[in-house]
Amino acid sequence: MTLLLGCITDDFTGASDLANNLVRAGMRVVQTIGVPAGPIEADVDAVVVALKSRTIAPSDAIEQSLAAWGWLSAQGARQIYFKYCSTFDSTPKGNIGPVTEALMNAIGCDFTIATPAFPDNGRTVFKGHLFVGDVLLSESGMKDHPLTPMTDPDLVRVLQAQCHRQVGLIDYRTVALGADAIRARIAALKDEGVSIAVVDALSNEDLLRLGPALADMRLVTAGSGVAIGLPPNHGIAPSASAGVLPVAQGLQAVVSGSCSQATHQQVANFIATGKPAFALDPMRIAAGEDVEGDAIAWATPLLAEGAGPVLIYSTATPESVAATQSRLGGMEAGAMVERCIAAISQRLVSLGVRQLVVAGGETSGACVQALGIAQLQIGPQIDPGVPWCYARVGTAEGAGLHLTLKSGNFGGEDFFTKAFKVLP
Ligand code: ADP
Repeated sequence: MTLLLGCITDDFTGASDLANNLVRAGMRVVQTIGVPAGPIEADVDAVVVALKSRTIAPSDAIEQSLAAWGWLSAQGARQIYFKYCSTFDSTPKGNIGPVTEALMNAIGCDFTIATPAFPDNGRTVFKGHLFVGDVLLSESGMKDHPLTPMTDPDLVRVLQAQCHRQVGLIDYRTVALGADAIRARIAALKDEGVSIAVVDALSNEDLLRLGPALADMRLVTAGSGVAIGLPPNHGIAPSASAGVLPVAQGLQAVVSGSCSQATHQQVANFIATGKPAFALDPMRIAAGEDVEGDAIAWATPLLAEGAGPVLIYSTATPESVAATQSRLGGMEAGAMVERCIAAISQRLVSLGVRQLVVAGGETSGACVQALGIAQLQIGPQIDPGVPWCYARVGTAEGAGLHLTLKSGNFGGEDFFTKAFKVLP
């Protein structure tokens, strides 16, 4: 097997986002949850190893990322792709910078890029500044993120603060000139002592121009967008057979621990269409009440009646999140809510749910781990960055679960209802 691309992602929704772009560009892809114990059996072009390393201590993120790299290189991966969020989610300590530098050291790579651009989802980089839709990152909902508030849109500055190596910029004028100009700019930056460059990209065309310039780069770091330009380096073109999943069965549910703006609209839209929804109260969880049991007691008869998808959510306004965090601590509140939603997702699957939407990157990580999922097959796209996936849960016949892991800010307003219509 020739593994063309070995990918490491810092969260689980990001892994299926990246796998989705690779599948759409024609690659055969498997996503693994964590580092597999043995070799991959399937004949694939790319493996995406999903870690949950975005908000853990930088030293732990480095250790896990290096373990993933070690496994991918043992599989013969020709190029390594470290994937992070298209809103560059990180704290002043990392983990984008520290993990990038650790991978560069391990691989012996003297230059890499860093660009979260994902034009299909409105993430563009101009003069090193990240835009989310029409506003700068620092004016987007990301300023209020519970774990990784982003208050500086200048990615060169943000990344430099996390790195020992010098960070530079390949700007839109160079990108517009194409791969040769990008290669020349990389050579010039290297001469200046720069070893990581943020790359501007305003459109998919920019990403497709960037692709060939990355053909020989042993490490690429980016959001999922850059992935659209890499398969052509191997003569791979989009194909219709990519992304076919088994037929969906069973009951339908949505769980949401995302407090991002897009998720707020999706929760509101779901409720406005008259569908059943149950709000989780973090302060009740903190008080030791059986909120998980209440949610399941609420959902059980609705699912039995065939009411269609039910929604269980902790999605709350920035004010409410801030109030909870000031009483419990930010990371502690987050971990507690994640544990509750993960336990609920397990119990929903025990009740016969076989089509499950999970909203929130960290939340998805917690749910996938609780469900004991090791590997995901990537299926059709629901909205940009969000495909349906298929996993085996347990060993019983018919134990296949259709699952979608939605990053907080992805998806249209009707995502929680639309998703189920996309499945055959
Ligand atoms: P997103 O993809 O939108 O960033 P995540 O799941 O990655 O969503 O992050 C949201 C974090 O906020 C999680 O750690 C989650 O447990 C936490 N959280 C969810 N609801 C609340 C709430 N009501 N109060 C405090 N924290 C919350």
